[in-house]
Amino acid sequence: MQRSTKIVATLGPSTNDPDVLTRLLAAGVNVVRLNFSHGKAEDHIGRAQMVRDAAERLGVSVAIMVDLQGPKIRVGRFEKNKITLEPGQAFTLDAECELGNDERVGLDYKELPRDVSPGSVLLLDDGRIVLDVQSVQGSAILTRVRVGGVLSNNKGINRQGGGLSAPALTAKDMEDIKVAAKLEADYVAVSFPKSSADMYMAKTLILAAGSKAQVVAKIERTEAIANLEELVEASDVIMVARGDLAVEVGDAAVPALQKRMIRMARDKNKLTITATQMMESMITSPVPTRAEVSDVANAVLDGTDAVMLSAETAAGKYPIETVEAMARVCIEAEKSSDYQLDRDFLSREFTRVDQSIAMAALFTATHLKVKAIIALTQTGATALWTSRVNCGVPIYAMTPELSTYRRLSLFRDVHPMTLAHDCDQKSLLDAAQRKLLDQGLVQPGDLLVVTVGDTVGQMGSTNTMKIVRAG
Ligand code: PGA
Ligand code: MN
Repeated sequence: MQRSTKIVATLGPSTNDPDVLTRLLAAGVNVVRLNFSHGKAEDHIGRAQMVRDAAERLGVSVAIMVDLQGPKIRVGRFEKNKITLEPGQAFTLDAECELGNDERVGLDYKELPRDVSPGSVLLLDDGRIVLDVQSVQGSAILTRVRVGGVLSNNKGINRQGGGLSAPALTAKDMEDIKVAAKLEADYVAVSFPKSSADMYMAKTLILAAGSKAQVVAKIERTEAIANLEELVEASDVIMVARGDLAVEVGDAAVPALQKRMIRMARDKNKLTITATQMMESMITSPVPTRAEVSDVANAVLDGTDAVMLSAETAAGKYPIETVEAMARVCIEAEKSSDYQLDRDFLSREFTRVDQSIAMAALFTATHLKVKAIIALTQTGATALWTSRVNCGVPIYAMTPELSTYRRLSLFRDVHPMTLAHDCDQKSLLDAAQRKLLDQGLVQPGDLLVVTVGDTVGQMGSTNTMKIVRAG
């Protein structure tokens, strides 16, 4: 049973073993996320190499997403790695403090004292800990603990309601973009962007570093919701980054925002990743909760391209079981009749010839009950357009470009394959069909729709749709 929805898995200590990583990819991971909030450049480069090797051995397409740390508004480290905060106690966040203790802790984001004032509410560790700001004295923010708990090294800080001035791309991010270029990242995720300008800045730096990576906007700030439309337009992918978003806008606002974001992105021919706490309990348990199963299934029904795992795979006890469970839930949700969304695609507007062919392929696939769409593509653009509408037919995107092959792993409904395009159109069509027949993905006599260009191998040249019988 093929799965339409893609799985993004974060790498970390639990996946460092090459054998575990291979089993993780074999269990169905389509995109790996390298979280640049942790670890050194060399670690990430090493992990990327391990991923490439394992994917090649397995013969699967796996994209690499570098997730930039962004303005890490986080506490520093503690002498004993963690402390316990009691409600009512005083606690100081001090930009000058080196190593924290029971009374105070340092700050990675040195500007925080300037961004808060008495009455501000600070939420630590995804909102688990709540601090009321009493006063600001130079580099120190004096607070009183409203909700206590265990606070460990480098936990995140949010201000309720947003409004922190930190720019989206820090000096570290700019260096990390060069690392992303070096390890040939397929996607680069920008943390805490506020507006399209942040995304254009990231794109410029990525290109300057010699990278072809596409950009992911993590929607996790109050300001990003106000600028959602321009952020979607300026990005290739958006991530519904529910962890920080819930803290900034309030957790109850997130489910409706998730639906709105996914719909908007699909309408604008963009991709989406739904992230954070999807299988949270599986960090320590071999089975998900009912609520988690529903959450993953609902993201599928919302039309997300991918569902993401964070600590579940990076630091959890059951990384492989988690991917297996997620895959199983996606496949089942995709069978639901509620999944048949987007039948209104005829009203979509487009002006390009290649896009018209993609739409024609969708129309035909829906009405003629074809078994597969084959998109012979250089850049992946035809695969993107056909996958923005759920027509219930698998899309086999065949490309000679390695970077396209990997990037396509994120696209819902799309199964990337490599195929040299160095022959005439007739031989190319034969080779494409043979690929599906050989793998048993279609049977002789099945109806197929193929999109291709006259000038095979040239980008943007798709101008032909063919309807053929396999074999
Ligand atoms: P993070 O982003 O895991 O890098 O914080 C995702 C989120 O905030 O949901
Ligand atoms: Mn975040």
